[in-house]
Amino acid sequence: MNGKLWSLATLCRNRSLPPERLEALQLRKLRAVVEAARRDVPFYRELYAEAGVEPGMPRTMEDLQRLPLVAKPQMRAAGLQNAVSERLAAQCRATLRTSGTTGVPLAVPLSPEDARIRSLVDFRGLLSLGFRPWDRLVTVGPGQGRAPAPHERLGLFRALVIRAEVHPEEQVRRLLRLRPDILWCYPAELRVLLEKAGHPLRELKPRFLIVSSGVLEDQVRRMAEREWGCEIFVSYACMETGRIAIECPKHRGPHVNADHVLLEIRNGDRAAKAGETGEVVLTTLNQSAMPFIRYRLGDLTAWTGGACTCGNTFPLIQAPEGRVDEALRFAGGERLSPTRFCFALRASDGIEQFQVIQETLGWIRVLIVPERSWSRAEEDGLRQRLLEGGPPGVRLDFEPVERIDATGRKFRSTVSKLPAE
Ligand SMILES: [Zn+2]
Repeated sequence: MNGKLWSLATLCRNRSLPPERLEALQLRKLRAVVEAARRDVPFYRELYAEAGVEPGMPRTMEDLQRLPLVAKPQMRAAGLQNAVSERLAAQCRATLRTSGTTGVPLAVPLSPEDARIRSLVDFRGLLSLGFRPWDRLVTVGPGQGRAPAPHERLGLFRALVIRAEVHPEEQVRRLLRLRPDILWCYPAELRVLLEKAGHPLRELKPRFLIVSSGVLEDQVRRMAEREWGCEIFVSYACMETGRIAIECPKHRGPHVNADHVLLEIRNGDRAAKAGETGEVVLTTLNQSAMPFIRYRLGDLTAWTGGACTCGNTFPLIQAPEGRVDEALRFAGGERLSPTRFCFALRASDGIEQFQVIQETLGWIRVLIVPERSWSRAEEDGLRQRLLEGGPPGVRLDFEPVERIDATGRKFRSTVSKLPAE
């Protein structure tokens, strides 16, 4: 526990490091990450040997540019056993799966230390937004049921999860029972919840909202502000690296967790200038089991530039310009968040890749690339899970295909052919 407090205190202090000390910290961590990856991870060992990266690199932050970029398909093709540290593979307990726009998941095993630092970085972000010891935080999204931590048993910093796959009616019931002080959810989930007829959630009084993984549409922001009149903060994360950035308490934009990930914004083969939109490339600084070094995440953002008045010296970015998750719509105006569909599909064994296509108000096609033989019984079970609690009479067809072209920025794991509202 003391070790944890010490790490948290260090993480909190890092936020006010002057730029040159922050860069020194980043370089020290980066060199250790690259050295360990070259020594213990076959994927990087081979990649760096092929690219002629000399031992001892990078010596400076500029040297980072001399390391090759990597992408998800390349890491998938290398195989999990080659992308994980030989020294730490046996220690990994939790394995996350990437979600996001491509519909092709990548397994990300974490060592206990990797998981611990991720949770501390998240906790630091919550503290910066005003998470108080007696607050109840409820997340609607990914997460596992777990035993409460010792501090939660004492009623301190309680954090509860309502899984995104749970039907919206049940989400509403649980939210009303749990009465969150802080509500954390996906923008698409938030929209579905706020559009429930009669606004059953009106009586909730969250002090603030945190939205992550997806673009917060202005309309949804206005709905939340109107319903609850509370502040909204944007968080930016991915399964590969954990929390990338969290919005400034003064709403100046998201501050990158610069002691946790090294974020580059690339425009073609050069670094983007302040204000110029480019592709996010990430390097993990606190992840030993499966390091990501110059990993092309594919999201688009830009540096805001300039120092912040809140005291945090971590750089500011614009809220990522991801895709706007369109909820699936049905006759009678009912909506379902595509997140729920995508989560259930991702959690299904035997599906390598998928794409959900809404053809009409009553017809959804799901293209799937099966990993092995795909049985009718599995199909029926999955259909039932996907449509559970939804409006009656919706037709849902599975179409096994050989491949789905998920390359390019235009790919969406959910496509709606309905006319815009
Ligand atoms: Zn700030």
